[in-house]
Amino acid sequence: MHETFSDVIVVGAGPCGSFTAFNLAKLGFDVSVFEEHAEIGIPSHCAGHLSIKSLKLLGLHPLPFEIVENVFYGAIFHSPSDRIFEVRFSSPVTCVVNRILFDKYIAEKAEKVGTRYFLNSMVKSLIVKNGVVKGAIIKRGKTEEKFSAKVVVDAEGISSRILRQVSLSTFNHQMLVKAVQAEVKNVKDLEVDMVEVFFGREYAPGFYAWLIPTQDEKAKVGLATTSGNPRELLQRLMLKQPTASQKLRGAKISRISFHSISLGGPIPQAFSDGFLAVGDVASQVKPTTGGGVFFGMTCARIAAEIVSEALYKNDFSSDFLCKYQRRCNDILGSDIKFMLRIRKMLDALPDDKLDDTINFCAKISLNKALQKFEDTDFQGRSLIRTLWNPRMPIALSYFLLSYLFANRKICRRQLNRKDC
Ligand SMILES: Cc1cc2nc3c(=O)[nH]c(=O)nc-3n(C[C@H](O)[C@H](O)[C@H](O)COP(=O)(O)OP(=O)(O)OC[C@H]3O[C@@H](n4cnc5c(N)ncnc54)[C@H](O)[C@@H]3O)c2cc1C
Repeated sequence: MHETFSDVIVVGAGPCGSFTAFNLAKLGFDVSVFEEHAEIGIPSHCAGHLSIKSLKLLGLHPLPFEIVENVFYGAIFHSPSDRIFEVRFSSPVTCVVNRILFDKYIAEKAEKVGTRYFLNSMVKSLIVKNGVVKGAIIKRGKTEEKFSAKVVVDAEGISSRILRQVSLSTFNHQMLVKAVQAEVKNVKDLEVDMVEVFFGREYAPGFYAWLIPTQDEKAKVGLATTSGNPRELLQRLMLKQPTASQKLRGAKISRISFHSISLGGPIPQAFSDGFLAVGDVASQVKPTTGGGVFFGMTCARIAAEIVSEALYKNDFSSDFLCKYQRRCNDILGSDIKFMLRIRKMLDALPDDKLDDTINFCAKISLNKALQKFEDTDFQGRSLIRTLWNPRMPIALSYFLLSYLFANRKICRRQLNRKDC
């Protein structure tokens, strides 16, 4: 078997793999990215809804215009019985990107600074010697090749096949949602500058559904769910949800994909000797919205920083690489904890209480307090910024009381059942 050498091997050419590669290769390190598919970005499974502020933080704003399909001034939230709460900002806060072009763009940036890309090249397994990762076995068609490296960065997405080989715990399976994402045309009456979000156990139990206008009566529509068949739930949303059905009844699906999202927060350990995990494989995803591009790419940049320090020091031990987890936690940890709490509370809120809460938010004009909530990624910090407005503590108390009241009923029901 032929053997080749690189400073760093990256598994997967998704945004997190390529962003790690870009940040390392621009420092002059020898980086090789292996992607199992023939083309970067394909198949795509993501809505591509990103905050403009986060793109700025990643140094990716403005994106080339052909990648951005639309920009948005806010969102319209639909309660389970279609009560509406709208938050609109004075300038665009989010955008929707073509994920295929976005992934290719990050890969091109990495390639320009010297990263080598190997397509149709699946990382079959890791080379591990005395517990230390030393490279990977690459499968191309029927041939296999050994690739040695000082560090392997695993950015394989949610599949976690490689992660299991270093015996690290994968994401929390109880917090996994199954998602469907469709591109549709012939959509009527779209609010082209607003994203729409639909709650309700009938359409998206345990999560929500979305409608993201792109261009010319086209949109991305999707949902994630903890139970039921995502395809059937999508059909129900398109035919039965009062607002969505009005817009989507005559729509044609041009593309549909299915994938999962891990909402349980980062895995407990994303490093081992000679090895780091970034992006979806490490569950670096917002537990509230399932958005993983910004958190994953933020951790990818941190991974590149730590790996470059390790390469300078020639120390690839887990004692050194654990700095990666600490730095990610310093930057994202408190916001993720906050979002996990909100996710669990939302999951426990029955539809009627969610209806009342959304209705209440509209009644007290909470949108005025949310004008300082333009940072949709660091949601904990954003929330603190809105607390000065008395509407916010009132709305939070209402939400909290609804949750406690609903949960008291659930606990009582469970206790009664145990008594039986
Ligand atoms: C329906 C849906 C909608 C979403 N919408 C949004 C959104 O609007 N905004 C947002 O921020 N996030 C969204 N997400 C989440 C987002 O898609 C992910 O967080 C993001 O793609 C993670 O990037 P990644 O690089 O970690 O993994 P991926 O994008 O999954 O890339 C992993 C890559 O690794 C390759 N690979 C896997 N195994 C191997 C192997 N053994 N060898 C070689 N290559 C391999 C894969 O082919 C793939 O190209 C959505 C997810 C879903 C399912």
